Amino acid sequence: AKSAGGNRYELADPEADARAITRHGLTTALPAALDRGEFFIEYQPLVYLGDGSVRGAEALVRWLHPQHGVLGPDRFIPLAEHTGLIVPLGRWVLEESVRQARVWQDRYEEAGPFRINVNLSPMQLTHPGLVADTVDILERFGLEPDALCLEVTESALIGADDDLLKPLRRLSEMGVDIALDDFGTGYSNLANLRRLPVNVLKLDRSFTQGMQQYPADPVDLKIVEGIVSLAHSLGLSVTVEGVETGAQAEQLKHLGCDTAQGWYYARPGPPDRLHELALADATG
Ligand code: C2E
Ligand code: CA
Ligand code: CA
Ligand code: CA
Repeated sequence: AKSAGGNRYELADPEADARAITRHGLTTALPAALDRGEFFIEYQPLVYLGDGSVRGAEALVRWLHPQHGVLGPDRFIPLAEHTGLIVPLGRWVLEESVRQARVWQDRYEEAGPFRINVNLSPMQLTHPGLVADTVDILERFGLEPDALCLEVTESALIGADDDLLKPLRRLSEMGVDIALDDFGTGYSNLANLRRLPVNVLKLDRSFTQGMQQYPADPVDLKIVEGIVSLAHSLGLSVTVEGVETGAQAEQLKHLGCDTAQGWYYARPGPPDRLHELALADATG
């Protein structure tokens, strides 16, 4: 069809049309899906490399779509960001994750303090209700701010002005941990870290992938070693994502990484799965 502008032609592409319809269909279905409770959360354990104990979990949202089945966040988070629905959806994820973390703390006290990591979209950062909503949710479920970690991507923060950082700083002062997610994916500016209110660095999966063979590429090792030592010197702890093999886990532990996450330990799963892992860990 000829476009409205008159000087551009688009080839007929039935597949692209189908994709567009799906995108459009998904976008318009999002608000009702939230009302109907079609979203659910899977939890992936965070493992302390020092002793292999499960210390917490990252909350990862999914959509049980009535026609399309389970959709991963990559399919709908960008759409929710585009329409602004990410604000109420993100608030729901936070509330549900904090509620769940409280259940874990109560039931499995012997497993030690349990932490919950929740992803924040850039739009949630600029939403004026972020601090008040977070405080309200923590109080309502009686969870200590210390038990919560909010994950923000590097790209959302690099170049951020002080207004954007203020709410994060407030949360950080309350004791909420702030993690810089997907660290090293291209916007890295290590010097910048000093002005950001973050205390956890999540090394992107691409670094972990470089450690698939044993021994790993010496240059990769040097880079990770440098990042870890710099992070530690700035008082940040380092979490590595995407750990799929024992060899990776060993090398990352050897390099001084603090916490790890990945299929090698467990895939994201329902809350009951995490009960089992944390409890098995606590009882040896
Ligand atoms: P992320 O925050 O970097 O989350 C880690 C992703 O890596 C997850 O994908 C997880 O399932 C996957 N993963 C975990 N271990 C491994 C592994 O060993 N190997 C590989 N190849 N992958 C692994 P998932 O669940 O599809 O989430 C994708 C992205 O969607 C997340 O990336 C995050 O950016 C976003 N997301 C998920 N839940 C939320 C949410 O509640 N709010 C917001 N704003 N974004 C979310
Ligand atoms: Ca994350
Ligand atoms: Ca803290
Ligand atoms: Ca990540």
